[in-house]
Amino acid sequence: MTQDLPSSKYDRQERLSLWDQHIIEDSVILIAGVGGTGSEVAKNLALLGIGGLILVDVDTIEFSNLNRQMLFREEDVGKKKVEIARKRIRERFNPDIKIESHSSLLQNLPQWIFYNVDIIAGCVDNFLARQYLNAMAVELKIPLIDSATDGYFGQIQYVKPKVTACLACETPQPPDETRVLTAPCTLVGVPRVREHCAWKALYEFSTVHEREPIETSPEDIIELTKLANNFAYKYNFGQFDEKELLQLILFHVPSLITVNAVVSGLQSQEIIKSLFLEKKDIMKERERKILENLLKTHRFRIPSFTIYSALTGTINTFDLVPDPSCLVCGQSNAVVDSIQIVTVDRKSKFGSILDKIRKKHKKDYVGFRGNLIIPDDGIIQKFLSDGDRITLSSLADDEEIRLQIKFQN
Ligand SMILES: [Zn+2]
Repeated sequence: MTQDLPSSKYDRQERLSLWDQHIIEDSVILIAGVGGTGSEVAKNLALLGIGGLILVDVDTIEFSNLNRQMLFREEDVGKKKVEIARKRIRERFNPDIKIESHSSLLQNLPQWIFYNVDIIAGCVDNFLARQYLNAMAVELKIPLIDSATDGYFGQIQYVKPKVTACLACETPQPPDETRVLTAPCTLVGVPRVREHCAWKALYEFSTVHEREPIETSPEDIIELTKLANNFAYKYNFGQFDEKELLQLILFHVPSLITVNAVVSGLQSQEIIKSLFLEKKDIMKERERKILENLLKTHRFRIPSFTIYSALTGTINTFDLVPDPSCLVCGQSNAVVDSIQIVTVDRKSKFGSILDKIRKKHKKDYVGFRGNLIIPDDGIIQKFLSDGDRITLSSLADDEEIRLQIKFQN
């Protein structure tokens, strides 16, 4: 007896009510960070038949990645993560999808790379990248589904700009035993908890040196601890020692493949649901009606915050509303709706233009894509392009101003 072969390799998932494979195949997801969680998310989305993936990660493969990052093998150690990930996903999981890879710091990615992205999957392991991704998602109004893991715990946050809380909104802290070190807080303004002093120190270090501190450099760690303790002293928090500071901000938290797999599974699922929500109007009529009915009867929901504990086997979800005073997504923010435009001659001197802008707005620092700009005598078009956005800030106050550069001729 012969059996008819299913006409599509996605046959089993296409049997689900609500499922619209065309929406999946028509979508592009940017995965920021291709480590423990990012590799899993990339694999899941590839197997589901996503139309395109954009992989961003500056790291190379380390031997200690191999116990949980299943896209990589021993022979890959030392090679760029995104390039090997792209190759393996196509070889092993799905040859039909388009994959772009960028071996770059997120902060250095040109903004146009985000323009065709439907959802951003945040799978990064450090604070600055996470805050940058959040600001970019809010500014470009792209939903962000961010995850973080720390040992036996994991969390996922869904940021629908202006609808749910963003990562910089003041959010209620989960109970101590399930706290994960993502520390949603702002880089400017008054630190609300002691850890914020460490993040501010990291930010100041990175802007002054235009690089991140090196974990194995005693000079870097001493300087970072000094900076953090200046903030701690100023805002009446206890002092840090070097070891504590290292643990707080320097990246290598304990990591388990089982927790990565659960968290990336949840994250991938929410990415697909979010695609259905965003593209509801172009879903097949039957599926759209099912979705509308589920929404109406509260049987479809994307929680804004999910916490998983492998120790207790529990998954808790919370809904977080945006904080109106949030510096990234709140009403006081000049970013999203009322960005100020500065018209300049593209041949004018970069340094003198920046000086004028800083004086006019009474700010100390000018930032571009997460880095401090050091003024230079060259002409402005050597450094910025028409339409680029810069930020003005001072460590002394809460207000960050964003400006868009427009070339006059
Ligand atoms: Zn916010």
